[in-house]
Amino acid sequence: MNPFRYERATNAANAVAEITQAPTGAFLGGGTNLVDLMKLGVAQPDLLVDVSRLPGPYNRIESLSDGGVRIGAAVRNSELAADRTIRTRYPMLAQALLAGASGQLRNLATTGGNLLQRTRCVYFQDISKPCNKRVPGSGCPAREGYHRTLAILGTSEECIATHPSDMAVALVALDAVVRVLGPNGEHTIPLVNFHRLPGNEPQHDTVLKHGELITGIDLPPLPFASLSHYRKVRDRASYAFALVSVAAALAIVDGVVQDVRIALGGVAPAPWRAWKAEAELRGKPATEEMFRRAADAELADARPLPGNAFKVPLARNTLVRTLLELTEEEQ
Ligand SMILES: Cc1cc2nc3c(=O)[nH]c(=O)nc-3n(C[C@H](O)[C@H](O)[C@H](O)COP(=O)(O)OP(=O)(O)OC[C@H]3O[C@@H](n4cnc5c(N)ncnc54)[C@H](O)[C@@H]3O)c2cc1C
Ligand code: SF4
Repeated sequence: MNPFRYERATNAANAVAEITQAPTGAFLGGGTNLVDLMKLGVAQPDLLVDVSRLPGPYNRIESLSDGGVRIGAAVRNSELAADRTIRTRYPMLAQALLAGASGQLRNLATTGGNLLQRTRCVYFQDISKPCNKRVPGSGCPAREGYHRTLAILGTSEECIATHPSDMAVALVALDAVVRVLGPNGEHTIPLVNFHRLPGNEPQHDTVLKHGELITGIDLPPLPFASLSHYRKVRDRASYAFALVSVAAALAIVDGVVQDVRIALGGVAPAPWRAWKAEAELRGKPATEEMFRRAADAELADARPLPGNAFKVPLARNTLVRTLLELTEEEQ
């Protein structure tokens, strides 16, 4: 591991100023992804500014006057999953958090760091191999090599990596908004616009610029999210990333879908909001046939490779199963 300086931030503005002046510096959350990447030689920051113990709103879960909830960026994944408001009003978020990593990791991992964790594509993590995301222009061995866990939607010729976070999939379905503090002040970014598809610049995972700090995440009220689920399919029962996951909330009135939110994980380079499936479902009967039609609409653009073609039927069936479960609970 390269030598680096470590500083613990006592306020957000100072943290931003420090990183803005250090072109290869990085914020440190729980360190559960960044430190691993440093050990592997994938990340080589010369300065770490620890933002995991920022005080006040960065460390709190607060109710907002509009009925929504604000989650500080330094709130740990375990604390967020255990929060009573999150468990009752946004159950899919608590379920997504508990489906990720392990208890020990969740005790360390922060809300901000979780959103910015990097792909687990094996070539990205191996500095002896080419990888367009790690070294732009060096190639993508995953296309011809091991891609069983990689993406079927939103890919490009340059990169087919999947986004790894479970939490982000639930947050995208919930219309979450990311709060950012940069050298020029504060701004917000809808989470659905926060992660980038690879296109011809796979090295950029998000629209965040160097020096910009995530300070928190806002959840809108969304009353029908109290009936929501996160379903994750993986190779092992725990401690494994999603092959496919579905976050869904459903509002049914007299057997008809009044409103719906759906996002998919494990299938794309970003948490994938299923806009087409949602549009297909609104105003339609809440039946298995309609759920299958909606899943087919969303997956019509899938471009699988031989090793991950199984994800297309897996995503279809997981989405239908999740919606059926929600329908049964509603009745
Ligand atoms: C073995 C293992 C299994 C795992 N399994 C899963 C899983 O199944 N599902 C899942 O979702 N996750 C899983 N994880 C990932 C884990 O949840 C992430 O490592 C964790 O959420 C990252 O959070 P962190 O606070 O430790 O981030 P860090 O590692 O500290 O940081 C990650 C990135 O975020 C940046 N950063 C941190 N905080 C901020 C901020 N406030 N503003 C701007 N930038 C910031 C850092 O500079 C870095 O680039 C697993 C991890 C491991 C090691
Ligand atoms: S899929 Fe993306 S991350 Fe994986 S090797 Fe190709 S360019 Fe690198």
